[in-house]
Amino acid sequence: MKVAFFGRTSSGKSTVINAMMKDRVLPSGIGHTTNCFLSVEGTDDDKAYLKTEGSEEEQSIKTINQLAHALHMDESLDTGCLVHVFWPKTKCALLRDDLVLVDSPGTDVTSELDSWIDKFCLDADVFVLVANSESTLMNTEKHFFHKVNERLSKPNIFILNNRWDASANEPEYTQDVRKQHTDRCVNFLVGELKVVDREQAPDRIFFVSAKEVLNSRMQRAQGMPETGGALAEGFQDRLKEFQSFERRFEECISQSAVKTKFFTEKVKNIMDAINIEAAEKRVAALEDREYQMDRLEFVKNQLNLLINDIKQKIKAISEDVEAKVSVAMEEEICRLHVIVDEFHTDFHPSPHVLKIYKSELLAHVEEGMGKNLAFRCSNAVNMSVQSSQKYMIETMLPLLPSTVQSQIHMLVPSRKFDLSYDLNCATICSDFQENIEFQFSLGWTALVHRYLGSVNAQKALKLVDQNFQPSRPALPLARTPFSGPSSTVAQPNNETARMTKEDLMLAMATSVASLTSRTSMSAVVVGGVVCKTVGWRLIVLSASLYGLLYLYERLTWTTKAKERTLKRQFVDYATEKLQLIVSFTSANCSHQVQQEMATTFARLCQQVDQTQKELEAEIRQLTAKIDQLETVQSQSKSLRHKATELETQLEAFTNQYLQPAKPHLFVPPVRRSTVWLSPSHSFLSPVPPHNTSVQERLKD
Ligand code: GDP
Repeated sequence: MKVAFFGRTSSGKSTVINAMMKDRVLPSGIGHTTNCFLSVEGTDDDKAYLKTEGSEEEQSIKTINQLAHALHMDESLDTGCLVHVFWPKTKCALLRDDLVLVDSPGTDVTSELDSWIDKFCLDADVFVLVANSESTLMNTEKHFFHKVNERLSKPNIFILNNRWDASANEPEYTQDVRKQHTDRCVNFLVGELKVVDREQAPDRIFFVSAKEVLNSRMQRAQGMPETGGALAEGFQDRLKEFQSFERRFEECISQSAVKTKFFTEKVKNIMDAINIEAAEKRVAALEDREYQMDRLEFVKNQLNLLINDIKQKIKAISEDVEAKVSVAMEEEICRLHVIVDEFHTDFHPSPHVLKIYKSELLAHVEEGMGKNLAFRCSNAVNMSVQSSQKYMIETMLPLLPSTVQSQIHMLVPSRKFDLSYDLNCATICSDFQENIEFQFSLGWTALVHRYLGSVNAQKALKLVDQNFQPSRPALPLARTPFSGPSSTVAQPNNETARMTKEDLMLAMATSVASLTSRTSMSAVVVGGVVCKTVGWRLIVLSASLYGLLYLYERLTWTTKAKERTLKRQFVDYATEKLQLIVSFTSANCSHQVQQEMATTFARLCQQVDQTQKELEAEIRQLTAKIDQLETVQSQSKSLRHKATELETQLEAFTNQYLQPAKPHLFVPPVRRSTVWLSPSHSFLSPVPPHNTSVQERLKD
């Protein structure tokens, strides 16, 4: 139990404490010795000592002057710090009940009321305002208690109008002065602080002389007759009033103890409830954490499995697309002449018109083939891409965060996947050179072409006529789509020239041999026989026929025929070129599909990563929560333990002081063995026979 004494400097706080302890424990009469709080508590040691705040050093004090000196000299003591004065319990009965009396610096000397209240007053059971009855209640004193009242609900406050011996020396005014003081104090307690009822208020206000009481008690303690103050007029009344204060004070303390007992019971129940709830929550958190850890493990393993599975799937679908595009392209290349035939625009053999014609033809082929390929492949590819994406999402769905699961459609690309075939006809056919010069079908060049094949014919013609320029081949050794323009046609070197001659001789020999060996031989034989029989007429006829044929062919070599020839030459040329890019284009398409699938998969993996992160964060949170709950549990256990300890102490206190001496004592309904004290039964009276300290007090 803690009692805090407040009041202005020199109002007599230290003297009141000394009077209650029947000894000069605290120095008085020299103003407040320090700006520190002095707490007087009992010790089982024989000797008194003091301890300053934050230090474990026990400074021994033999005399009161020594204490005053120690407090004055200690420079480390800050304003508002706490100094513990330990006084032997054997010397003071009051301290045996673990009562702590706190003397404060004057409320008039500080500006730190708030921090004082927080530090020293929030756990005080009783407050004693020691006022100087020679003056009126000051605002500083009132202000302090207003502040206390703001923090504590209905604090127990006593007002001691001290130095009453000095105020009451004019007996004719004594009653008036007393009434005036009483009214002010009652107004303060009832009207301002509202801590007691008006009827109870007079029980909290006393007019005393601490100095007289202290002197008289010390004289008695030393076995000496009372002198001086004890003989002053009105001393007995003031002594009785002081005793009356002590009784009320002790009742208040006892009630506070009983309240504390209820409180400890309550605390125990609360702590039990907290402990149980914390244990339940901890178990739930442990289970939850276990579940989340399992889930994290599952997500990790499942993701590894799915990565392999989906990789295989992407590979398979890419290969399938490659094959599909390849087949479709082959077919389209075979049908290239249809696309080319569909092309109609103005044609003229002049180089300028031809250039435009060819570029438009290339664009037409690019567009036509693109459309046809899209028609053949896109739908199928799109469907298989979509079904694979769906498969991916479905298999990964359980691994995604729940928030994402509900918005899964956001992860599927909203645009329709379209393959881009990108044939680039303009580039790959840029080397195309048409040959639309007139060529007589029975002319020398045509015959050489017919018998030697186009390549050998060119070589032969080149040898015959060094000036002969091979028509830029309808099927030239042109660059591949993968090669640059610089690699167009290689310049023949000596080696290749030599090789060419040898090849040509061999080809000519073979052709002549073949000619001789087959139809030519028979034609010569037939021709010789015919010539012999019909003679020059036949020759003339043949020549005219030859001429007529030439004339016919020359006349039919119109612009239309030239366009047809160009188209045919273009189809041959483009077919060869497009053949070269089949594998490239199909690989490109397969790559596009792979990209599309990989993008979707990466997006899903990102979400799974998110799930993992969320799970890890949740596990961390749960671990922290479990630790916190463990702390709560252990703290609630320790508080319960403390409450039990306190209860035991209170039990002892109750047994010692609150046992009913008379059967009429009132028993409160809530507790089975607790005795509620009537005002006349405090621990000063009645007294258990063995309690010498109480007997000592009875002497008063
Ligand atoms: P504190 O500063 O409030 O602790 O006041 P003290 O206890 O140091 O007392 C200041 C002075 O007032 C001392 O000289 C005391 O002897 C004196 N004093 C205390 N109580 C009384 C009293 O009831 N009557 C008279 N006449 N003097 C007192």
